[in-house]
Amino acid sequence: MDNEISLQSLIEDVMMLAKKEARGKPPKVHLSERTAELLLAIGEKPEAREVAPASAAPREKRDPVAAELFPSTGETATVLRELGGEDGESNRNRESELALIADEVMTCAKCPLAAQRKRPVPGEGHPRASLVFVGEAPGAEEDRTGHPFVGRAGNLLTDIIVKGMKMKRDDVFICNVLKCRPPNNRTPNPEEVAQCEPYLLRQLEVIRPKVICALGATAAQTLLKTNESIKRLRGIWHDYHGIPFRVTYHPAYLLRNPTDKRKTWEDIQEIMRLLSGEVIPEL
Ligand code: SF4
Repeated sequence: MDNEISLQSLIEDVMMLAKKEARGKPPKVHLSERTAELLLAIGEKPEAREVAPASAAPREKRDPVAAELFPSTGETATVLRELGGEDGESNRNRESELALIADEVMTCAKCPLAAQRKRPVPGEGHPRASLVFVGEAPGAEEDRTGHPFVGRAGNLLTDIIVKGMKMKRDDVFICNVLKCRPPNNRTPNPEEVAQCEPYLLRQLEVIRPKVICALGATAAQTLLKTNESIKRLRGIWHDYHGIPFRVTYHPAYLLRNPTDKRKTWEDIQEIMRLLSGEVIPEL
């Protein structure tokens, strides 16, 4: 019975791969854990090939509120694996390029915010993340720690990634348009954005994500150079320098307006459909 389930899963994943190749897309697929285990076992010694029964895998005890807001996505789309992906050398190159950008940010004084920050917040995450979250600017807690999206809003973003998307926070890249905190969390002004946005562009050039998710109206409006409301910007695909771009609510807003968590979950599900190859936006 267990093998029958795995075979069905394997057939579905191979069909998805064939569809993507037919569309001329790179050979990246999201595999179910079971399929990934079976494929990775090919070529191993027979005694090492046995796949542990699904029931043996420890199951995460879920917070009932999170389970309701960020329901399980099922077994598929839980593990991001790449067939014929890049090697560790490429990972290290990207890591060191990102570290170089972070070093520049740490000593940057291109705009007046440098004089008021405690710590710059360059961003952090996987050097070849498929998904990059971009917020507006660091807040007080980020300014104090030097890490993006920490505190209550950061915890909610982590819940979205871990409980909702079934990914690790380290699998994605998280950063802001501005790398230093504006006083009293005021909205970034155009001059600050003009000075700081090149750092974000360079980070994206290194990471080459499949999708960007803007968190909040200000990040979306700043990056898309528009005054449209978040209501109008949500629910459709945008193009940011050739990268599919989706807009959702900022986690801090969601803490104040929990009824809109459902809409954010819809946005996140659409992003997951893109990551799994189900959706190919026309940019
Ligand atoms: S906000 Fe950006 S441009 Fe301004 S000082 Fe910080 S890193 Fe430099």
